Amino acid sequence: MSELKDLASQTAATWHIPDQVRVGVLAGIEEHERWLQAHLLSCNDCRAPLIDLLGKLAKAELTRPELAQVTCSEARNAIFHFLETGREPALDLLRHIVTCELCAEPFYEPAKARVVLEHDPDDTGEAG
Ligand SMILES: [Zn+2]
Ligand SMILES: [Zn+2]
Repeated sequence: MSELKDLASQTAATWHIPDQVRVGVLAGIEEHERWLQAHLLSCNDCRAPLIDLLGKLAKAELTRPELAQVTCSEARNAIFHFLETGREPALDLLRHIVTCELCAEPFYEPAKARVVLEHDPDDTGEAG
């Protein structure tokens, strides 16, 4: 029993999003997108690296007209891969996540909500 517990604490920051959700989000199934969005809002292990990653994207990068042709599932898969392995996605894929309405909702909105809070000088972040 204690071995299982140890394992759980050791893997706390690693992959814990169900395969079903991952597959559903890649396929653009709304139910799974909402699950992921809610998860990112409540799970710091997933959200923190995502905030970090998306925070690196400068505004100038987002308004560049020559957006590469990237599919939603390619970009989403890259984010999952990032959460899983820590490998940063290519810039084009990141740009897609932020600029694509469909992808921004489950991935970027939760991160953005927190970024805004953290940049608010009146919010010390010690609430709760
Ligand atoms: Zn998580
Ligand atoms: Zn997209």
